[in-house]
Amino acid sequence: MHAADLRKFGWPCGYCGQLTILSPGGDGVTVDVRSSEGPGCASFAAHRSCLADRLDPDFNGDRARVKAVGRNQPLPPAIGNQSS
Ligand SMILES: [Zn+2]
Repeated sequence: MHAADLRKFGWPCGYCGQLTILSPGGDGVTVDVRSSEGPGCASFAAHRSCLADRLDPDFNGDRARVKAVGRNQPLPPAIGNQSS
């Protein structure tokens, strides 16, 4: 089995541990972790909903962006332009 095939079936979600599908139409996203202190990147897969649910409720705009990233729809306004 090739890695590309595996990707089609899914990866364990970094939050809930259930498989999430990263291929088009799936419910998963890749979360990249970076630091301003230097190079390097860690990444893991997660359900959009798991990631969005763990953001602070004040981060409504970011939650919406998590759910919209990579999809063919306009992104909502960024931070600082929320109606709450
Ligand atoms: Zn999950």
